[in-house]
Amino acid sequence: MSFVVAIDGPAGSGKGTVTKLVGDKLNLINIDTGATYRCVALETLNQHILLDEKEKIVSILDDIEIEFVNTDEGKKVFLNGNDVTTKIRSKEVSQIVAQVSSIIEVRLKMVDLQRRLAEGKNVIMEGRDIGTYVFPNADVKIYLDASAEERANRRFKQNQEAGIEMDYEEILKNIKMRDEIDKNKEMGALKQAEDAIYLDSTHLTIEQVVEKIIEIIKEKGFEG
Ligand code: C5P
Repeated sequence: MSFVVAIDGPAGSGKGTVTKLVGDKLNLINIDTGATYRCVALETLNQHILLDEKEKIVSILDDIEIEFVNTDEGKKVFLNGNDVTTKIRSKEVSQIVAQVSSIIEVRLKMVDLQRRLAEGKNVIMEGRDIGTYVFPNADVKIYLDASAEERANRRFKQNQEAGIEMDYEEILKNIKMRDEIDKNKEMGALKQAEDAIYLDSTHLTIEQVVEKIIEIIKEKGFEG
């Protein structure tokens, strides 16, 4: 038996932070599906492949190994044995990841990996299409939203803390561009599942969002 919590929503809605905190509190394994697409985008850059060279992007999928490893310094993402935790958050990756993740073959492969990572476990998984496609029978589905300006603001602060250089206007533009691409994807588009609970976090603190989600999970009978 496994328990699945799906957290979907646009870039910067707070999914990452909230998912981690809820996961830690309730002992749910936290799976960041965006990181899997970011790894493919990073490898595309590493191999100097252009966005319109779709076949070349698809061909790298066979040689990609993505792992999530728990370390003393927190969760790390490994791509072909290299720690890419910080690199996958770079401006260059953020600029192409929405396009790379629009490729159907990329999605099929990453969804397969995401489902395998969750198999038989109690998980909290964040992304765009978890409640609609990856786990349509998830026990709890949340759609976390916030205004584009607030999301850009949060990402700006996060980047500053991580030492990633990107000004506010540039982040806002990137977020709006990704929203547009993500909502119009042929497969795995960003949209609220019919049975998902909508949560607008624009005027809520992280703690308030975490508390609300824990309450919803507990109402479904999961105590951690
Ligand atoms: O969540 P994060 O911003 O790291 O995701 C990076 C990108 O990966 C998103 O802009 C989106 O294009 C893509 N993505 C996706 N499906 C998911 C998670 C992320 O298409 N489940």
